Amino acid sequence: MTESKANDLMERIVSLCKRRGFVFQSSEIYGGINGFWDYGPLGAELKRNVKDFWWRVMTQRRDDVVGLDATIIMHPKIWEASGHATTFADPMVDCLLTKKRFRADQIEPQSGIAYHYSGAEDSTDKAKTSREPYSVLIAPGKHPEYARKVARQFYAQRGIVEARLLEERTEELENSIRFNPENGSLLTEPRLFNLMFKTCVGPVESAESTAYLRPETAQAIFAQFKTVAEVSRQKVPFGICQIGKAFRNEINPRNFTFRSREFEQMELEFFIRPDEAVEAVCGSVARPAGPGHPGEPQANWGWQMWHKYWVEERLAFYESIGLLRATLVEYWQKPEELAHYARATVDILYKFPFSKRDAAGELAGEELEGIAARSDFDLSQHQRFSGKGMGVFDEELKEAWARLDESKKTALSKRYFESRRNYLVKTGENPAGAEAKALEEAAGLARGNYVPHVIEPSAGVDRLALALICNAYGEDTAPDEKGKMETRVVMRFHPRIAPVKAAVFPLLKNKPDLVKKAREVRDLLRPQLTVFYDEAGAIGRRYRRQDEAGTPFGVTIDFETLGEQGAELKDTVTLRERDSMKQSRVKIDALPALLLERIR
Ligand code: ATP
Repeated sequence: MTESKANDLMERIVSLCKRRGFVFQSSEIYGGINGFWDYGPLGAELKRNVKDFWWRVMTQRRDDVVGLDATIIMHPKIWEASGHATTFADPMVDCLLTKKRFRADQIEPQSGIAYHYSGAEDSTDKAKTSREPYSVLIAPGKHPEYARKVARQFYAQRGIVEARLLEERTEELENSIRFNPENGSLLTEPRLFNLMFKTCVGPVESAESTAYLRPETAQAIFAQFKTVAEVSRQKVPFGICQIGKAFRNEINPRNFTFRSREFEQMELEFFIRPDEAVEAVCGSVARPAGPGHPGEPQANWGWQMWHKYWVEERLAFYESIGLLRATLVEYWQKPEELAHYARATVDILYKFPFSKRDAAGELAGEELEGIAARSDFDLSQHQRFSGKGMGVFDEELKEAWARLDESKKTALSKRYFESRRNYLVKTGENPAGAEAKALEEAAGLARGNYVPHVIEPSAGVDRLALALICNAYGEDTAPDEKGKMETRVVMRFHPRIAPVKAAVFPLLKNKPDLVKKAREVRDLLRPQLTVFYDEAGAIGRRYRRQDEAGTPFGVTIDFETLGEQGAELKDTVTLRERDSMKQSRVKIDALPALLLERIR
């Protein structure tokens, strides 16, 4: 697909979202607010289905994961411990002409001729001059007058109405990110901008009352780790998951809901033993032997196996809701891209129509989820900042350690000591202090104590909803009421996450017997699945409306249902399938079980 076709497709998707009430701008009657989106009736159902299914798969169907629902505003120290207060910042630049703001790392590199000026003076009033240097980049072959026009606009904003440009100089530039790609104007130098939204707790606005809207849900899980472990009587390895709102004051929200300022996350923190503890208990540490799912969790898994396991589980999740593997990319971050505490991170990307393209012209994909092996960084940070122990006692480890021979004990202690010392030094401890603390912790390991490591699959609900909408969007042809073929828009959602599962239609709305029976069918299905009842308009038009909403099944109550075409068809309905448009007759009694099987 070419870029313009992709843009066109995205425009059609956005317009469908608005027309059919999936997603529209927040505060629309006041002109909207950039980076904030509302989900209408169909979008709200879609999002709810995505979250419910994630929750079912990630915790309800597992023995080793429990849930949490924490507050959005938390103690500000949490963000000091996590590093967000100091490092959760993006570099931003402003256009010197339009003041439009960009993320410096998202500017497309450009080549061309830069026109530099040392300033300008007013040709009608020599007293008015500006000594502010300014530059404009224009594409090769473009008329120099364009650069001069832009520069005059810049100086006009500084009060030089009839600008005579001073000391024009040109320079050939390649792959520069110093200019606004939209108008060629010079940008400001990059400045760091913290993405956390600030608020104030209580009636007095002061430094002490400043708090933040959480930029991720994960930190509450770390802060409550000990409490949740205790009350749920879980033992490492186990996980805590949470779904909830997160807020980031993104410099440049874009690509519809993809980069928003308010969004929802679905995060799991899965706590595991450090490899040294696994080795002490099991004799050795299993590592991934090859590609693919490593199977059911085993006691001898180290962090690499757990990480691989969660990558495969998450890919399987996306496939189970209709995102084919060919639409996804498993991107292993390069060592230089990793956060300093991360041992490995895999991003799961979806090939959105607006994704960048690789050298071969293929869609490269944009991030839906990151799965990071974060070592024991988070719990250690909270231990350090709160002064409360975040370690666990592992009885099995203590007993296994007592059985080890001395050389093994020494080797494991040494490795554990080194990894702890490295962490402490990396996070700012002086070498002598780090050495002493790491020694103490290595001695703790021998007694069965350690700070768990964590694997974090962290996904965005809104990005997934957008991927599902893009993935479902299709156009084909279908016959209208008179049998003439017309274009239909069809949202081919997987039945599991489709906003409405079945639509029920009486063939004609002016036949009371049909309407009565149709309402009975609606009431029969409603306790078990989301049903939409529609009696308005020609049946073909009603089918079409449901195709656009992505409803996988249509149930029509017709004269056969009433037994008017023979006793054998009495109490049967027409079941129409959205994708194939195939129709079959089904007994009303059999409908709930049949539909439930198809949507679960
Ligand atoms: P990006 O690099 O795209 O800004 P990130 O790597 O900062 O994302 P994480 O901090 O790993 O994202 O957040 C986990 C998930 O939360 C992301 O994979 C994404 O699905 C979602 N997410 C993050 N930022 C946003 C946003 N501004 N709008 C919508 N979803 C978001």
